[in-house]
Amino acid sequence: MKIGMGFDIHRLVRGRKFVLGGVTIPHSKGPLGHSDGDALTHAAIDALLGAAGLGDIGDHFPDTDPRWRGASSVKLLEAVAVKISRRGFRVLSVDAVILADAPRLSPHKERMRKNLAAALGISASDIGVKAKTMEGLGPIGAGKAVGATCVALLEKKRGSR
Ligand code: MG
Repeated sequence: MKIGMGFDIHRLVRGRKFVLGGVTIPHSKGPLGHSDGDALTHAAIDALLGAAGLGDIGDHFPDTDPRWRGASSVKLLEAVAVKISRRGFRVLSVDAVILADAPRLSPHKERMRKNLAAALGISASDIGVKAKTMEGLGPIGAGKAVGATCVALLEKKRGSR
């Protein structure tokens, strides 16, 4: 078995959709980024790539590549699922913490789990999505950014080495 960890943070600006775990949530600002800026999905991608020994999100989806401009990060996660499967790994579990003081995320956590599970081809019961506020502290607490951390556990598929 292999474990990986991921982290991501995006600046929040006006005129962008607020997307997390593939869910668009009504808010006055959204994450600045080359893709849709989905910090939760980016943290999950880095956790999975790390566990599989496949580098990081920037190695696979460089922000200089026009193909990824405005891309749905859940689509990138689907591509990562294929890469780690080809590498001989199966995803056992993914567990994430979102850091955001606004908007309110708890009504959306279940859909995020389902989106991540569908992209990875695993059960939503193998995915954890928690939401924490920063209690008003720092840039996330001031509503200037959204962040996420994630761990992923993989196992080598039978017969692969
Ligand atoms: Mg990112």
